[in-house]
Amino acid sequence: MVAALLQQTPPDTFDVAVIGAGPSGVMAAWKAAEKGAKTILIEREVNPGRKVCAEGILAEALPDAEIAPSSDFIANTISGAFLYSPDETKKVNVKGNGYILDKPSFLQTLSKRAERSGAILSYGTTINAIGRDNRLVLLGYSMTGCELEDERKLEIYVGHEKAPSGYVWIFPKGNGEANVGIGIKGPNARRLLDHFIASHPRMFSHAKVERSLAAPVPIGGELDEYVADNMMLCGDAAGQVIPLTGAGIHTSLVAGKIAGEVAGEAVKLGDYSSSRLRKYQQRFKSLYGEHISNSLKSLESFERFSDEELNIMTGYLEGQDLVDMAHGLSPRKAIGLMIHHPALAIKVAYQLLRD
Ligand SMILES: Cc1cc2nc3c(=O)[nH]c(=O)nc-3n(C[C@H](O)[C@H](O)[C@H](O)COP(=O)(O)OP(=O)(O)OC[C@H]3O[C@@H](n4cnc5c(N)ncnc54)[C@H](O)[C@@H]3O)c2cc1C
Repeated sequence: MVAALLQQTPPDTFDVAVIGAGPSGVMAAWKAAEKGAKTILIEREVNPGRKVCAEGILAEALPDAEIAPSSDFIANTISGAFLYSPDETKKVNVKGNGYILDKPSFLQTLSKRAERSGAILSYGTTINAIGRDNRLVLLGYSMTGCELEDERKLEIYVGHEKAPSGYVWIFPKGNGEANVGIGIKGPNARRLLDHFIASHPRMFSHAKVERSLAAPVPIGGELDEYVADNMMLCGDAAGQVIPLTGAGIHTSLVAGKIAGEVAGEAVKLGDYSSSRLRKYQQRFKSLYGEHISNSLKSLESFERFSDEELNIMTGYLEGQDLVDMAHGLSPRKAIGLMIHHPALAIKVAYQLLRD
């Protein structure tokens, strides 16, 4: 999403133009309009939200988006995840509450809120926007007829053979429906995902792929700078994704909210300079900067472990350790669990604690 502030405001134009009605865009348009700025939300799709996504969020994302959970846009409620070792002999039970969204309905609910606050929605309009390099290719299938062990649990499968530098995910939507996908750095996503499905007949022997889409997600960390005079970048455009998980909905919602507030204040002051707009960047970085850079470090570390080492580590880590490591928080906690494998412990310590 690009929030472009128009310095000159002739009649019939806008103070704030938000490009892209993804999670960050709908939040930015809402907050800017709420602050009284004349705001337009421009989106190339007529019905946004169909861009491929596994649609999983942690429960905390909704309060951050200032919206209560509702069956209008929640497909399923999640109570944790099973993370499988590469050989699938070990399964870590990761606790945590979350939701699988119906993302088009979620974005529609948020864009209607922006509209009620005064933003004009212009859907079906394409702007020449700024992009950035992406590194992880995600391929997602919408499937029906899946037979999952527990429809309240996400399933995550790691291992270089299955998903080089990435993972396979199964995010249940209920009633046998699931978002099933793979994120990898190299080629062959479809071949690897089809192989995974074929080699798990217990879950997929009666399943059908209803829809298949691929999209890139930036997992290289935040851009150093994502504001300039008259402009702020948010969400994927700014690299605001948690690198190890590829999750960007929550961070994008928060970034858009802050950017919209800063845009609204800038309009009131008539100051659209990068130094004024940098308040958005400072606020976002203070919330998520360390988190994203630690997660990037964890991702780079995990890439250096072999499948055999990951099998051992999965046996010694607990769910919360994995969550902490995935989010880049306190990786030191994991080290104590590795006492039975000192050589591996040293490698983990070296990888996770290096600056
Ligand atoms: C397969 C896959 C699975 C994922 N699963 C998850 C998950 O489970 N949980 C999670 O948290 N994150 C997930 N992500 C990441 C998440 O989807 C993104 O990080 C998040 O949606 C980024 O939000 P955003 O605000 O940057 O906008 P985006 O979602 O990137 O939306 C941008 C919008 O801008 C519009 N647009 C783009 N260019 C133009 C233009 N030139 N003119 C007008 N409009 C334009 C697009 O049509 C789109 O609607 C996944 C990503 C992929 C690819």
